[in-house]
Amino acid sequence: MFPKHTVDLSHRELRAGPFWQAIPAFADVDEATFLDHRWQAKQSITKPRQLIDTLQGLVTPEFLADVTDGFMRAPMSLRVSPYLLSLIDWRDPMGDPLRRQFIPVGSTLLPDHPMLTLDSLAEQADAPVPGLTHRYPDKALFLALDTCPVYCRFCTRSYAVGVDTEAVEKIQLRVDRDRWERAFAHIRATPYLEDIVISGGDSYQLKANQLTEIGDALLSIPHIRRLRFATKGPAVMPMKLLTDLEWVEALTGVVERGRRRGVSVVLHTHFNHPNEVTEITARALDVLFQRGITVRNQAVLQRGVNDGHDTMRLLLRRLAWVNVQPYYVYQHDLVKGVEDLRTAIGATAELEKAVRGVTAGFLTPTFVVDLPGGGGKRDVHSFEHYDRTTGVAVYRSPNVQKTELYFYCDPIHLLPPEGRARWAIPSEREGILAEARRAVVR
Ligand SMILES: *Cc1c(COP(=O)(O)O)cnc(C)c1O
Ligand code: SF4
Repeated sequence: MFPKHTVDLSHRELRAGPFWQAIPAFADVDEATFLDHRWQAKQSITKPRQLIDTLQGLVTPEFLADVTDGFMRAPMSLRVSPYLLSLIDWRDPMGDPLRRQFIPVGSTLLPDHPMLTLDSLAEQADAPVPGLTHRYPDKALFLALDTCPVYCRFCTRSYAVGVDTEAVEKIQLRVDRDRWERAFAHIRATPYLEDIVISGGDSYQLKANQLTEIGDALLSIPHIRRLRFATKGPAVMPMKLLTDLEWVEALTGVVERGRRRGVSVVLHTHFNHPNEVTEITARALDVLFQRGITVRNQAVLQRGVNDGHDTMRLLLRRLAWVNVQPYYVYQHDLVKGVEDLRTAIGATAELEKAVRGVTAGFLTPTFVVDLPGGGGKRDVHSFEHYDRTTGVAVYRSPNVQKTELYFYCDPIHLLPPEGRARWAIPSEREGILAEARRAVVR
């Protein structure tokens, strides 16, 4: 009666057992050790050299040379947990969706689009206090710190997150009480703010007492009605929820104190691929579910990772199975050094059509593009104009800026030959954008 893919049950088959023991370096690691978040953090690989050493014998020398080359040119720092390393299929590292997200290889890097900038969302321009981006009227983004349990190649905040690399010198957003206090002061003094996203960096990196401190400071502001702690943690180090009771208790405390005051406090996380949801993840997320903590997901769409229709359907159904609500799928931001991961707006719109209807509407994410230049998030389908030859999509965002037009540019290598040829001529660029603008404003 229903199309076959809609009644397929593979989303319930979660990876289990001591899968990490297939990595020679973890062959003797027992489950208790593997589930210890301190062990995961301590054993996380942060230097290309360590990674190369760990992978000796698992992959070919050519692949290792390719990785070395990738690191020389990457704007992100390296951090991968043993858990993540164990989920990568090292028999096919080039094709593996987790490898693609965290470990660069030189041979697949593509030249940046001429419209790319490092802080493509202009988060720094909309920041009244360093690390507090106030772009929308009733909600703001608070970057509490600049470290993460892992570093993603595609990070939107590569302007700040992680340590300096060969390619990029970063601004710093350390844990800094004075900076935090200035952010809270701005929130206190802005009565129309109701909703704060606490991100970074990553809330997993906050110590339990810091999480409590931030949560309680924000809960004490009468006009704040919604808090969301953002963390990639459950996707890359779920065991912390099983073994760092202090952190889980701190989060639960803020959630419960919020509930008593009528304030919703939730967790927003960041799963991108169904392989990131294992039996350990299911157990970890159940800890939050049993405590009544809502978890929502914001995925980043990446070519060759989760842009396949079957892959995205599987991701959404698997997240639903472990009680995570898919909230957004983001069109990839215009970030330096990751052109190989971006998709075209037209392909994203097709993907949205392919997933809507496979499960509950409240478990079906909105596919959004966070507009370069600070226009905020818009439904990918809602462009005023889209030229498939030049790959330019034009959006409006009337609640952020009444009259401004915002442009998103598809990756050049995915355009038809005519479009590629035009972008190759630097003097054509202004014209391409002007043309798109004229198509909207007549
Ligand atoms: C994403 C974002 C928010 C939250 O937006 P929602 O659409 O409500 O999830 C708030 N501020 C900034 C700057 C953001 O980028
Ligand atoms: S976890 Fe989030 S903030 Fe950290 S590197 Fe990844 S995308 Fe960036």
